[in-house]
Amino acid sequence: MFATLSDRLSDTFKNLRGKGRLSEADIDATAREIRIALLEADVALPVVKEFTAAIKERARGEEVSQALNPAQQIVKIVNDELIEILGGETRRLRYAKTGPTVIMLAGLQGAGKTTLAAKLALWLKEQGKSPLLVACDLQRPNAVNQLQVNGERVGVPVFAPEPGNGTGNPVAVAQASIEEAARKLYDVVIVDTAGRLGVDAEMMQQAKDIRAAVNPDEVLFVVDAMIGQDAVTTALAFQEGVGFDGVVLTKLDGDARGGAALSIRSITGKPVMFASAGEKMTDFDLFHPDRMAGRILDMGDMLTLIEQAEKVFDQEQAFKAAEKLSGKGDFTLDDFLTQMQQIRKLGSMSKIMGMLPGMGQFKDALANFDEREIDRIQAIIQSMTPAERDNPKILDGSRRLRIAKGSGRQVSDVNQLVDRFTEAKKMMQQLANGGGMPGMGPVPG
Ligand code: GDP
Repeated sequence: MFATLSDRLSDTFKNLRGKGRLSEADIDATAREIRIALLEADVALPVVKEFTAAIKERARGEEVSQALNPAQQIVKIVNDELIEILGGETRRLRYAKTGPTVIMLAGLQGAGKTTLAAKLALWLKEQGKSPLLVACDLQRPNAVNQLQVNGERVGVPVFAPEPGNGTGNPVAVAQASIEEAARKLYDVVIVDTAGRLGVDAEMMQQAKDIRAAVNPDEVLFVVDAMIGQDAVTTALAFQEGVGFDGVVLTKLDGDARGGAALSIRSITGKPVMFASAGEKMTDFDLFHPDRMAGRILDMGDMLTLIEQAEKVFDQEQAFKAAEKLSGKGDFTLDDFLTQMQQIRKLGSMSKIMGMLPGMGQFKDALANFDEREIDRIQAIIQSMTPAERDNPKILDGSRRLRIAKGSGRQVSDVNQLVDRFTEAKKMMQQLANGGGMPGMGPVPG
């Protein structure tokens, strides 16, 4: 997401490099480029105007900092303003003080509501909550079933009308679900409502009726980021028709421009609370304006990466590996395999790399990264005996041939893996012992 905008902005900043002081003409030119970049990213015009005006004003206002050169200053200003239009602070869910918290989802059909309901349920479960999913989309033929399938995937129960029993009345279902939640001690109720392909009065009325009946703690408007500016129009219609407290952007993975994300908060005044970026149930998180701004400016998304790493990494394993690397034990191919499997849990290699700073320039290479390479390495290591994994030095020609056969690879693949492992191990031990990496120079920051 935001690929176009990132590229454009980075070109803009490049033009400023090496300038000692920004003239009025420089500022104008920069503002103009930023304006085009935003328009190309499908950001709503009023938001673009407000944004560029703020950049100009601040750039002229000479918030001169000794520490930053003019180009860096502009990057900082743009970063600040991006955070601002994305909503400033991360807005967290409000939970009910007593009884179950009720979250109602509203949005057009196909926005990704049903998928999102399950993602949100899983996320809540990970926060130690016990959610209940409620199927109130009784319009779309397969919606109840789809929610049930998704609920099963994330291990969260689904409250749905018995087939043929009151199936026509979503308000009654919603009401009954709250009673059910209170009785069975679920602490969050997620109500999935019906959507239509376009905004229509009947749908709005139904959503309004459900809202009135269950008095939700949060009404979340779910919108497909891929529809760009239309997201803003739809949001305004829902704001008027049902009203909502926060926005969930879905399909950010398919949206290279990011216009919806950048416009919706300014236009509706409601924060984006969650972002959903993929078909997997775990492709979902709180929306952090500051991290998103960082991503747009290609400063990477280190915080997200670190948080995800903390979630999936087995601390004990990591600790053991670190100890071994620092020379207190021997780092073996088995450890290498374990580490690789843990990294794998973070997601695809291209996704992980995408979160690292400055990776924008390697986009094409990343897109072509063959994820199966990791499977191949895994297969080779798994074809080795424990003794070989402990000590690759014993790998003579016949052993290598056996391993290649066992893993369906060539001997040259085995050789390459062993060489790379030995090299990596040497390098990591140097680093761990404070030797530093030769020729790396200071890390730019
Ligand atoms: P609903 O009609 O609003 O309930 O929408 P669904 O949950 O049925 O989603 C519509 C389609 O979008 C489905 O094919 C989902 O798999 C897909 N989808 C939902 N969320 C995402 C997402 O974040 N990324 C991508 N790529 N697809 C998504």
